[in-house]
Amino acid sequence: MEIHEYQAKEVLSRFGVTAPPGALAYSPEQAAYRARELGGDRWVVKAQVHAGGRGKAGGVKLCSSDQEIQNICENLFGRKLVTHQTGQGGKGIYRVYVEAAVEIERAFYVGLMLDRSSQRVMILASPHGGEEVEEILSQRPGSVTRTTIEPAAGLRDFQAREIAFALGVSPAVTQQMVRTLKGCYRAFTELDATMIEINPLVTTADGRLLALDAKMAFDDNALFRHPQISELRDKSQEHPLESRAADRGLNYVGLGGHIGCIVNGAGLAMATMDTLKAAGGEPANFLDIGGGASPERVAKAFRIVMANDRVQAVLVNIFAGINRCDWVARGVVQAMQEMQSDIPVVVRLAGTHLVEGQKILAQSGLPIIRAATLRDAAERSVAAWRSDQAQATKLWAEP
Ligand code: GDP
Ligand code: MN
Repeated sequence: MEIHEYQAKEVLSRFGVTAPPGALAYSPEQAAYRARELGGDRWVVKAQVHAGGRGKAGGVKLCSSDQEIQNICENLFGRKLVTHQTGQGGKGIYRVYVEAAVEIERAFYVGLMLDRSSQRVMILASPHGGEEVEEILSQRPGSVTRTTIEPAAGLRDFQAREIAFALGVSPAVTQQMVRTLKGCYRAFTELDATMIEINPLVTTADGRLLALDAKMAFDDNALFRHPQISELRDKSQEHPLESRAADRGLNYVGLGGHIGCIVNGAGLAMATMDTLKAAGGEPANFLDIGGGASPERVAKAFRIVMANDRVQAVLVNIFAGINRCDWVARGVVQAMQEMQSDIPVVVRLAGTHLVEGQKILAQSGLPIIRAATLRDAAERSVAAWRSDQAQATKLWAEP
């Protein structure tokens, strides 16, 4: 789960990371009012969307009067901001953060993420922060410092100081840099984050170190331990089907193809997508319904997959260990009876209560295409999607 910049700044401030004073607004009038409240004569108005690259896309504006803020916000609110990270559809702007503008002296990049090869948290730091950081990191990979953290010891002071030296900050700023880095590391581990990025982290002429931007993402599977973080979820920034699935405890990721997939287990779901591709099809989604899925849960999964209007065929692939084929079959039948759609459905079942499951499908009177193996199911799904009825329903030996 991702959170907004203003939320990340507030979370990180509890760990000793300093940001300029700012306030949130839900309308242009409120944004202007917030600027008057903050005082000063220059502000930065920042669209709050879950994506980077807002500056280049026109979502971050420097303003010098409350009237200007109001005018700019009239243009931001309700609009979709399209950045290089949002995809074509963009992300809706419903909140704007107004912050006291800062005179930047130097701009750094600091990022914390999980490094899978060392299986540790890694801190990336670059002296060339700001909007061009991606180009700079790819052109001059040597300019970025990578520090992996021994989990039992945590981030040590000397390591944080080494990063500060590598960034070339003045002695006066070093201590603030150490506090910022250690705070980020503590926030990362204590809150089960998967990513923290401060870009830019800046120094000012009067010797302060400030986070001008902040991004955080969290491990969904650990959110139950952090109710104050899960509260920060903003569904307006999520893919509607993905958040609907997440609300129902289903793991759904939308993809570009036309064949909807309903599978139990993430590994089997990946294998199903591969097999589908090998058979000449393209999955419309990844979906893991999990173990021990009740008929209701299967029916919910079915409705979510079918709600995607790209879907022209559905492939259900269940290997029932903890699951039960008869429950899955009942879920499929229940959902299909409700929806009365003419989209072809291919079902491959294997494992616990297989015979009962097949019987339920066969006796439902629905035009369900049954398949014997994963490969068979993939081939039938592709044939059904191509409206090749003969290939999709060719005979097979009932197990
Ligand atoms: P992003 O484009 O989504 O990463 O949004 P940022 O919050 O990083 O803002 C984009 C750019 O706006 C930053 O890289 C800075 O160059 C600039 N910016 C943001 N806040 C300030 C500020 O207070 N003062 C100045 N001078 N520039 C700012
Ligand atoms: Mn940024």
